[in-house]
Amino acid sequence: MTTPEKLRWIEEELADLRQAGLYNYIRTIASPQGAWLVVDGRDVLNFCSNNYLGLANHPRLMEAAKQAIERYGVGPGAVRTIAGTMKLHVELEERLAAFKGVEAAITFQSGFNANLGTIPALVGRGDVIYSDELNHASIIDGARLSRATIVRYAHCDAEDLRRQIEANKDAGHRRALIVTDGVFSMDGDVAPLDEIYEVAQEHGCLLMVDDAHGEGVLGRGGRGIVDHYNLHGKVDVEVGTLSKAFGVVGGVVAGSAVIVEWLRQRGRPFLFSSAMTVPDVAACLAAVDLLEESTELVDRLWKNTEYFKREMEGLGFDTGKSATPITPVMLGEASLAQDFSRKLFEEGVFAMAIGYPTVPRGKARIRVMISAAHNREDLDKALGAFEKVGRELGVI
Ligand SMILES: *Cc1c(COP(=O)(O)O)cnc(C)c1O
Repeated sequence: MTTPEKLRWIEEELADLRQAGLYNYIRTIASPQGAWLVVDGRDVLNFCSNNYLGLANHPRLMEAAKQAIERYGVGPGAVRTIAGTMKLHVELEERLAAFKGVEAAITFQSGFNANLGTIPALVGRGDVIYSDELNHASIIDGARLSRATIVRYAHCDAEDLRRQIEANKDAGHRRALIVTDGVFSMDGDVAPLDEIYEVAQEHGCLLMVDDAHGEGVLGRGGRGIVDHYNLHGKVDVEVGTLSKAFGVVGGVVAGSAVIVEWLRQRGRPFLFSSAMTVPDVAACLAAVDLLEESTELVDRLWKNTEYFKREMEGLGFDTGKSATPITPVMLGEASLAQDFSRKLFEEGVFAMAIGYPTVPRGKARIRVMISAAHNREDLDKALGAFEKVGRELGVI
């Protein structure tokens, strides 16, 4: 079919993306999200997913989802303010609040929606948001939706944050919100939340952290970045996702009871979009059970991470400034990263190339995601493939 004239511009844009090595080729997977995947009919090692703890196909989560379907069906019916809220959702929120050590929690359909709902509920026109320059797209969009003034501060730089706040002191803003990713998803570095908290205290700002990549990873038994820095009771809003370490899908906002109550009244994705589905919620409840029972999976995740990074650095790769299981293998040009990823795939290793606009131009990389699901043999196979392709392409 030929493209109508009025849509021709899209074809041109798509051609430009392909030319620049920035086109997203999406692989189709015919297996669960385990350490190994079946992609295009072949078995490959999985280093792409955010399935940090291997929960995406964990038998306990699968069983919990099945049982909940038997009992409650699949769908939530409508938005919770209209159709009522299922017991399961309330139970999950109570369990998540207890796990995180906060007063209350509220779930959203995704982490993305949690940010879109939370930021505009807390600040609006006449307010100001101080946002780390590398914050996640959902924070950027949530901030824009709020209509507050957005002031970006230098990445992970509490001193610059302080300067920006001082420079805006006389602008007459009503409220101020500081918002940062906890773990930055493309570099794997961790926000200096302790220092940021000090600045928030000095200036009476609300403090919000998006702990999507810290949930189930950082802190005692995966309790997240606030636990990691021992800042309990000091961070106003913790946004999290149930789509990464928790292995399912969904978003959560944890914090004081009054903020959670406010989000039930004013969080637009809560008010105007249906809730998480029954099997999602039940599987998340089983994930909380597992995390509370044992730190085994979190411990294995970190052991795998330390081994893989040490070996990659030994081979001569630049793994950036990551302090978490997110392991960027820095390559520079987007086309080199795409070639590298394609050759890895030929070696049976599935690891994505990431380029602009997800990361700045000239900072393309392969992003390796380590999981507790990997065993030593898996990691060694990947290291062998990286070494081979790295030499072939003159990277090491
Ligand atoms: C992945 C991610 C999200 C989105 O979470 P979903 O549950 O997948 O919508 C939000 N914020 C950050 C920092 C993330 O890394």
